[in-house]
Amino acid sequence: MERLYPLFADLRNRRVVVIGGGLVAERKIAALLDTGADIRVLAGQATPMVQQWADQRALALRQNSLQLSRFSGWFNRSLLRREIKSAWLVIAATDDKELNRYAAALGRRYQVFTNVVDDLELTQFQVPAVLQRGPLQAAVSSAGAAPVLARRMRARLETVLDESMADSAEMLNQWRERIKQALPDVGQRRQWYDNLLDGEFSERIKARRYSQAERLLSRSLAESGKQLLAQPAIGKVILVGAGPGDPGLLTIQALRELQQADVIVHDRLVSDQVLELARRDAQRILVAKRAGHHETTQQQIHQILVREALAGKRVVRLKGGDPFVFGRGGEELQELQQHGIEFAVVPGISAAMACGAYAGVPLTHRDYAQSVRLVTAHCQDSMDRLDWPALAEDSQTLAVYMGVGQLDLLRERLVAHGRSPVTPFALVENGSRSNQRVITGSLDELPQLARMHQVKSPAMLLLGKVAALAQTLHWYGEQPITGETLADVA
Ligand code: SAH
Repeated sequence: MERLYPLFADLRNRRVVVIGGGLVAERKIAALLDTGADIRVLAGQATPMVQQWADQRALALRQNSLQLSRFSGWFNRSLLRREIKSAWLVIAATDDKELNRYAAALGRRYQVFTNVVDDLELTQFQVPAVLQRGPLQAAVSSAGAAPVLARRMRARLETVLDESMADSAEMLNQWRERIKQALPDVGQRRQWYDNLLDGEFSERIKARRYSQAERLLSRSLAESGKQLLAQPAIGKVILVGAGPGDPGLLTIQALRELQQADVIVHDRLVSDQVLELARRDAQRILVAKRAGHHETTQQQIHQILVREALAGKRVVRLKGGDPFVFGRGGEELQELQQHGIEFAVVPGISAAMACGAYAGVPLTHRDYAQSVRLVTAHCQDSMDRLDWPALAEDSQTLAVYMGVGQLDLLRERLVAHGRSPVTPFALVENGSRSNQRVITGSLDELPQLARMHQVKSPAMLLLGKVAALAQTLHWYGEQPITGETLADVA
C-alpha cells in the first residue's frame, strides 16, 4: 500500500475554504486559526463559536450560501466553484453527501487539495492528530486506517514531551543566527545542540529560569566555538548494542547515539525496526557476516571504521545484542586505539538475556541453577576449546550462541562428559521478535527436534533445568513447541 507523504504547509495569506459551519467544521476551523490562512467559511448555519470568529474577523463567513441544500438538495454550485477555484485547501465538513461529493470533484478538477470529513474515498489530504510545543509540532497519522491509534500515539507523545520544550524551542530560535555563525559546520552544530539540551540548560528552562538558561547558552556557544577551532576534525566511534531485535529493548543512550550518527556500520542481526530509529540521513553500511561465509572480513570492518572516523564522522558501530558478548567489540576497540581514535561503548541486551526473558526461562533460579555460562559453538574449532567437564556440571544454565549448526556434537560431548540426557532445553529462534519460536524438550532429542522444525539462525540454546519453566512461564508469542506434543500429533 502506498503511504501518505507528510508535509507541513505554510498557509499564510492563502485561501482555505471550509464548507459547513457545524461542530465538525468548527473543530477543523480551530486547527486553522493561527496559521495565518485566509479562511472562508461557506455555511448554511454557523455555531456561535464560528459566528464569534467571524465577528472577530478571524475568518470570513458567507452564511446562507448553502442554506437551501438542506431542504431541496440544491446548493449554489457556481459559488462553490468560484470559491474552490480560488483556494489552496478545501475542507468539506457538511452532512450533505452530495454537496461533499461535488466539492471533492471540484477540488480534483482544479487541483486543490480537498478534505472531506469522514470520507476516505473522497479525501485527498488528511488532517493529522497534532501535538504542539511552541513552534515544535508532531503530526500523527494512521492514513485513515485507525484514527484512534493515531490519537493514542499522540497521547503517548504528550506524556514524553514536556511543556518546557516550547520554551527551549523559542529561545533557540532567537539565537539561531548567532549559533549558525559560531558553529558553521552542521555536524558540530548538531552535537553542540545535543550537548546543550542534554545538560543544565534544559533543567533551567524547566525551572523557568530563563535568564540563567540564556547565560548558559551564550557561554557554551563561546566556549565550543573556541574548542572546535582548536580541535582537528577527527571523528569518534561508538560501539552500540542494538539488543535482540525488538526496538523496545534498545537503551535510551543507544537511541540517542542512533539519532546523532553520521555513519552507521551494522550487521545483519540488527533488525529493521531498530534501524528505522536512526537519523534519516545517516549513511548506512551493512557489513554482513554469517557463520560459514564471511562476506565482509573483520579486517575490512576495521578499515571501514578507521576510515570513517578519520574522515571526521561520528560512527555508530551497531551490533546485535551486546557488543562485548561474542561481538568482537573488543578487537574493534583495540584497532581504534592503535589509530588514536576516540571511542565509547553503549551496552545492549544480549541474546541470552532477551531469549530467557521472552521465552519464560529465568537464567538462574534458586532451586535449579546457581550460575550461567555464555558459550559459543559456531564451529568445531570453537567447540574444541570449551571446557567440557565444566559445561557438563548439573546446576548451571548454558546459553549457547551460534549453536544451531553444531547440535549433534554439542549433545554428544555434553552427555559424554556426564550431563544427563534428560536435561531440559529451550531453543529460542528469533527471540523477542514478532516471529519468535520456542522449542523445548530434553537434551537427547535436541538435534532431532531442531531439524524437524528447521530451526535457523539466529537461535539461542538455553540448556539446564530452568529451561523446563518455559512450559509454565511463557508469556510471549506462540506456546512453546514440545517433543511430546509432536509425538501426539504424529
Ligand atoms: N553480540 C550478540 C551475539 C552475537 S553472536 C549478543 O550479545 O546477543 C550471534 C548469535 O547470537 C546468533 O547466532 C544467536 O545464537 C544469538 N542471537 C542473536 N540475536 C538473537 C535473537 N534475536 N534470537 C535468538 N538468538 C539470537
